[in-house]
Amino acid sequence: MMNLPEKVSICEVGLRDGLQNEKVIPSTDEKLALLRGFIDAGYKVIEVGSFMHPKKVPQMADTDEIFKRIGEIPEDVELRALIPNTRGVQRAIDCGCKKVKLNVSASRMHNLKNLNRTPEESVAGFADCVKMANENNIAISGSISMPFASPWEGRTPVEDVDAIIEAYLKVGIDEISLSDASGQAVPNQVYDLCKHVREKYPQASWWLHFHNTRGAAMANILAAMQAGMTRFDASFGGLGGCPFVPGAAGNISSEDVINMLDEMGITTGVDVLKVMEMSRKVSDLLGHGLDSYVLRAGRSKDLIASQAE
Ligand code: ZN
Repeated sequence: MMNLPEKVSICEVGLRDGLQNEKVIPSTDEKLALLRGFIDAGYKVIEVGSFMHPKKVPQMADTDEIFKRIGEIPEDVELRALIPNTRGVQRAIDCGCKKVKLNVSASRMHNLKNLNRTPEESVAGFADCVKMANENNIAISGSISMPFASPWEGRTPVEDVDAIIEAYLKVGIDEISLSDASGQAVPNQVYDLCKHVREKYPQASWWLHFHNTRGAAMANILAAMQAGMTRFDASFGGLGGCPFVPGAAGNISSEDVINMLDEMGITTGVDVLKVMEMSRKVSDLLGHGLDSYVLRAGRSKDLIASQAE
């Protein structure tokens, strides 16, 4: 028997990771409609946007406004935003965002080239963000991109990942996301790293974030579940990419993940038909097709239903 969880949490990241790579930017009203649609579909965690500099990421410039305008949301729904530094925490405070996420690249070369710091030095520099977030009742988590491999250095040494995790724990961040932004991870490596971090850092809780650049994201999710992981990011319609990574594809499509888990008897609490509705809407808005098998083929459940008619 496979070792599988009964329940899995999916964070919808399409509004951030997906839309930030699009040329056509949906209006704030359109984004709000999507966000409300996702809450209605049953998502309990949604990545709404980011507080990066609007010149750097113009697609996310209205994140503050979205938080201000969303209004009452169910108490058990967490809306999070990506931040680069304390300016991001300040924007979260000002617009009522209650959960922020930092990010660091596990690629030493990438970090040194872009920020002139080692990844651990970057994370140590997040201490002021943590302090400010804590003082203002804002939850804070951290992400490690390319903990499996990077386009510049190949496989990431496990010791490097450990050093970054330890730096996060040291500044008081214990919710950590492992993000295969370049889509290079493979299942046996995912299984080994997930098992390793769970055993070595039992005080931490984990998210996994897989891009489907080379078609291995679904297999990686299965491998991570086998290693005991239960929280995964996904993007409606498989939207997304990464401006820094050559040829990057989007996150694994939410519909595909939820449909597979539904069929496996693993609860996500998300209504896949409603997610598909959102994808069709955004596909019309963006003017291009989306990268989701289930969106094209429909649910396998519906095949039987249509035969019975
Ligand atoms: Zn991503």
